[in-house]
Amino acid sequence: MYQAPKGTQDVLPDDIAPWRYVESACHRLAQQFGYGEIRTPIFEDTGLFLKGVGEATDIAEKEMYSFRDKGGANLTLRPEGTAAVVRAYLEHGLYNRPQPVKLYTLMSAFRHDQPQAGRLREFHQWDCEAIGEEDPLIDAELVVLLWQLLDDLGLRGLSVQLNSIGDAACRPQYVRALVSYFEAHERELCPDCQRRLRTNPLRLLDCKNPQCQPLIAQAPRSVDYLCGPCAEHFARLRHYLDLAALPVTVNPRLVRGLDYYTRTVFEVWPPTVGGQSTLGGGGRYDGLAELLGGRPTPGVGFAMGIERVILNLKAQEVPVPPTPPLAVYAAYLGVAGKDQSWRLVQRLRQAGTSAVVATGDRSLKAQLRQANALGAQWALISGDAEVEAGTVQLRNLARGEQETLPLDEAVARLTRVERVAV
Ligand SMILES: [Zn+2]
Ligand SMILES: [Zn+2]
Repeated sequence: MYQAPKGTQDVLPDDIAPWRYVESACHRLAQQFGYGEIRTPIFEDTGLFLKGVGEATDIAEKEMYSFRDKGGANLTLRPEGTAAVVRAYLEHGLYNRPQPVKLYTLMSAFRHDQPQAGRLREFHQWDCEAIGEEDPLIDAELVVLLWQLLDDLGLRGLSVQLNSIGDAACRPQYVRALVSYFEAHERELCPDCQRRLRTNPLRLLDCKNPQCQPLIAQAPRSVDYLCGPCAEHFARLRHYLDLAALPVTVNPRLVRGLDYYTRTVFEVWPPTVGGQSTLGGGGRYDGLAELLGGRPTPGVGFAMGIERVILNLKAQEVPVPPTPPLAVYAAYLGVAGKDQSWRLVQRLRQAGTSAVVATGDRSLKAQLRQANALGAQWALISGDAEVEAGTVQLRNLARGEQETLPLDEAVARLTRVERVAV
């Protein structure tokens, strides 16, 4: 027997309601904020992601699903969304449109990671990007968009974490200060951090090892090293977030390790804090388009983890609208009754009412059991007597009440029921 691969999951009809709830909110809110939907391929040239996520990162080194296809092309299942969206922006000349170009996508992504709750190998994201604008107003808009989505869904007790990590003009000085601080305490660092000190010193700040926490708490803060334009950008971003009445926590430990990330970094955390449980986050990537071979183009965006949001909806017991119930189940006795049931469901479905017809040769009792299992509100029962008389029995499955009606009247009543119910 085959099973779904490790780190993947099937979502069955009984579990789909929160997915529909989250995804429809994403579509609705993105549209309200003026973001257009984009869909990019599930795989891309491996080189795009090596550049886009950084060759020296854990993602590129250990976690990418890379393969050579039968034509010899080196391809990778997308491990994140931004690189492909920026690639599409450049490839289709979207820089010729009014800027910024605001895009969103609901997508699956793939990382060969150790699976844990809310962190699968195939996972799903809502990814929003605004490309071609450096005004901090657009950074603020994206923070508000992520926040409002989570708030609209009904999640409470969340916090917005915000930081600025500067740009090419001021970050080198900050990184030097950081390295000399940690070098002075190198023996107190965990082995991972001792390695990061050589390869990617900014990443020390988000080490989860308890041993490193006291040192990290005292480490130099990037916001103290911002150059004039970066400090101004950060101040205006906080101003716009103030105007939007969004409470934010400036968190000096929030970083992105790659050179093309600039200035703004943000995350939204659930009430129980922990690096693994971030609901979504993003930041500014003014250096990415150029790195991918395009002209220098500012950009900012975020990704929100759908699985994690659903876990938090469950943890907070947020009521999720159920999928609409089945209206009608058409049961039958005998060959003529079966024909009549089949014709009746055609009429109901054409009128926009959900209807299922029984199949096979089960007893009426077994058919009605199935109707209940499917959650149907009504059953239509046709036998020889009903066919002869041009009638059908209409049964309210919840109440167990049953009456005999002419066909047209039964159909009219059920299409009305459905409209009222919707
Ligand atoms: Zn460490
Ligand atoms: Zn700067």
